[in-house]
Amino acid sequence: MKPIVNIIWFRRDLRLKDNAALYHALKSGVPVLPIFIFDTTILDQLQDKSDKRVAFIHSALTEMQTELVGMGSTLQVFHGKPLDIFAQLVQLYTIKTVFANHDYEPYALERDKSIADLLTQAGVGFETYKDQVIFEKDEVTKDDGKPYTVFTPYSKKWKAKLNADYLKPYLTEQYFTAFYKQSPIHIPSLASMNFQEVPIEFPSKKLDEEIVRKYSQNRDFPALEKGTSKMGVHLRFGTVSVRALATIAAGLNETYLNELIWRDFYQMILWHFPKVGKGHAFKAEYEKIKWRNNEAEFQKWCEGKTGYPIVDAGMRELNATGFMHNRVRMIVASFLTKHLLIDWRWGEAYFANKLLDFDLSANNGSWQWAASSGCDAAPYFRVFNPYLQTEKFDKDLKYIKQWVPEFQEFNYPQPIVVHEVARKRVLETYAAALKPV
Ligand code: FAD
Repeated sequence: MKPIVNIIWFRRDLRLKDNAALYHALKSGVPVLPIFIFDTTILDQLQDKSDKRVAFIHSALTEMQTELVGMGSTLQVFHGKPLDIFAQLVQLYTIKTVFANHDYEPYALERDKSIADLLTQAGVGFETYKDQVIFEKDEVTKDDGKPYTVFTPYSKKWKAKLNADYLKPYLTEQYFTAFYKQSPIHIPSLASMNFQEVPIEFPSKKLDEEIVRKYSQNRDFPALEKGTSKMGVHLRFGTVSVRALATIAAGLNETYLNELIWRDFYQMILWHFPKVGKGHAFKAEYEKIKWRNNEAEFQKWCEGKTGYPIVDAGMRELNATGFMHNRVRMIVASFLTKHLLIDWRWGEAYFANKLLDFDLSANNGSWQWAASSGCDAAPYFRVFNPYLQTEKFDKDLKYIKQWVPEFQEFNYPQPIVVHEVARKRVLETYAAALKPV
């Protein structure tokens, strides 16, 4: 007789506590089999076999496995295509329902649709829940029901709608006895999937409340080790609950809360305007910009060899750690799109490969913000001056010295482009593209 189970399918919600889908699964009255799938559709696209995200996921799964084994259960981790894995699972088990949390990215939506079809054919339920954001889809709209495309009014409505119910944790631990009991099953090693360990320390998942308290004063200074929370990767993979962070933020610092609202905002934009996730400018007229797309200059930007120390410091930090401070992300993105006139999609793709906290909606929204083609973007004539940015945000050059120690030596490259020349060029190019016909 096949075992009767419900399945919790973890994706970007890699935690056992305060997890919406897991809570509903555990309460269902049927033993819950926890699974994760290393999806080869995604992994095969990663050229760097020491990808930090894969190693991060592996370590988060290992932590969950320890907890589950302690309860007499085990995580079953697969490596393959989700459709094939579920086709096998419906043969091995009598599955009543599969539970999962919403994922709003184009690939995930297609994947979930195909899994839902397969499960329906097999007579299995598929229940999905909101978990990774506070408000999703149509939950915060204008009075006429249309989506907001400007952040400030969206954030006001978001705050007006917030109440304790939206922040309440899902107390999964009350139902942990409902996990399906079986002997431990090994998680496939990184090497068995053709990936490698990475010698970096991932940011701690414990939020330092002092950072949140002082966030408004400190968040713009990249040299400060504790200027920002480094929660990005944990929010990306769900190793920390957004409800827990929003609860702390709501009590301590509104500026920090606003950042979490930006996150919801970009997820909402991707949901309502899926074209942005498929390579299109939010504002169609920005498709007419004549990018220079010089490959040698792009290469220098990627390697942190532009001769602009603040830009180079940012790119080197990204290449070495998978993290870059937000202020510096804005500077390097403005530099690529405006100073070098390189298509924002090139920068977006480079960040997508490198960022530990890479998230399609936030990355796309932020790149389009920098290139001015986005929904609530910087006006096109705003061109960050890297020297003034340095004076304001890295006055003592501490951040620059950390990442570009040779910046005052003769072997440091000359600026790839003269600021004033680049500024004039981009203003003319954008104006030509945007002029009414
Ligand atoms: P904190 O400053 O401590 O903020 C707390 C959390 O709020 C972050 O972890 C993040 O989840 C959220 N948040 C903060 N700022 C933003 C923002 N502008 N938009 C959306 N969410 C935000 N953020 C990503 O999560 N993934 C990305 O791929 C990404 N790409 C970016 C690309 C560019 C060009 C720029 C300018 C910004 C990008 N950001 C991205 C936004 C922001 O830079 C990062 O969220 C932040 O630097 C992460 O560091 P932290 O966790 O210390 O953030």
